[in-house]
Amino acid sequence: MVKKNSYKTDTLLSHLGRDSAANHGVVNPPVYHASTLLFDSVETLLEMRRDPYIKGRTMYGRMGTPTTFALEEAVAHLEGGYGAIAVQSGLAAIVGAITTFVGQGDHILVSDSVYKPNRNFCEDFLARMGVEVEFYDPTIGAGIAKLMRPETKLVFLESPGSHSFEVQDVPAIAATARASGAVSIIDNSWATPLYLKPLALGVDISVHAATKYIVGHADAMMGLIIAGESHYTRIRHTTALLGYSAAPDDVYLALRGLRTLSVRLARHEETGLMLAKWFQDRPEVERVLHPALPSDPGYEIWRRDFTGASGLFGVIFKPCSDAALAAMIDGYDLFGLGASWGGYESLALPSGPSMARSATTLETSGPVVRFHAGLEDPRDLIADLEAGLIRMAAVNGGEESRGI
Ligand SMILES: *Cc1c(COP(=O)(O)O)cnc(C)c1O
Repeated sequence: MVKKNSYKTDTLLSHLGRDSAANHGVVNPPVYHASTLLFDSVETLLEMRRDPYIKGRTMYGRMGTPTTFALEEAVAHLEGGYGAIAVQSGLAAIVGAITTFVGQGDHILVSDSVYKPNRNFCEDFLARMGVEVEFYDPTIGAGIAKLMRPETKLVFLESPGSHSFEVQDVPAIAATARASGAVSIIDNSWATPLYLKPLALGVDISVHAATKYIVGHADAMMGLIIAGESHYTRIRHTTALLGYSAAPDDVYLALRGLRTLSVRLARHEETGLMLAKWFQDRPEVERVLHPALPSDPGYEIWRRDFTGASGLFGVIFKPCSDAALAAMIDGYDLFGLGASWGGYESLALPSGPSMARSATTLETSGPVVRFHAGLEDPRDLIADLEAGLIRMAAVNGGEESRGI
């Protein structure tokens, strides 16, 4: 176990969540596969039953194993929480955290920029359960006070939005929520536990699609929920009620990804900015959505609250035909066409359907494409992007895009 909590982040990433002395000297925590756990006495079993949600303990495989607890301990420490809960996907982390705090007749406020499946859960499932969901302008800041009602139980943030990239005033929104007795939850997947510390900014609960940068290799799904003690205990209870569980092999992959998160992110950030700046200078581009560009409307807040940027950003192209956009994307040699992000590989995904809005409208004259800068050599990536713009120009007939 790591001896000093005061070590710098990169040191902690190498040492948190492992105990070689307890595992025959093996560096990494072993993968424990378990359903049944055996107890040494009835008394021990009864004690566990009285208090089953204590951090780092389990009475059945579904509630975790020592492999799970190693990941949970490491991530909780990195983000300054009392505890973390590993679940089977990022969406499960969102759902588990939200359902803990809402019931029939409650009102919740959700940023208009949230991940689309989060919006789907709110509009479909929560609405059916009698929860009133109101979407708010992501850039509302302290102005959210005027939307708070006595029955407002929860405020959900995502900063920056994973398709539209608006940066939220996290401290202002969290403080307003707390002052009116509502719980605040942020989807911190873009920044990871390294580049934004939401709990220190006043947010109650941080959730992650660890599937993205933490796992980092496009091979496992994982969700994480991090909170202070009272919220942690309540969410742990809910995720147990719901039957949520993270599989041990996937937990192992997340823990392994975590070890190299810092070095990978630095490269994703550098390449992402390089590509974003390159796009900014292109005549085919209307606007680049990247909070770490000084021209971005979210730049000042990003600089105040974040310590880095990841490699995911958006590009609004000037109006072009669907065929021209498809020719650009279909012909990429290095940029894969697919959902998810955070792996070592570069991706390009048309954002249209994922940018559903209800409280605000996005001013985009042409199509929006979300790019993920992978770990390839940026010179090769730029050559691939440049060839894509040439294909686009060759096909473009000038008709309006239907917003692929
Ligand atoms: C992918 C994603 C999720 C969901 O994570 P899964 O592991 O795919 O369920 C949640 N939030 C954001 C911002 C995401 O990009």
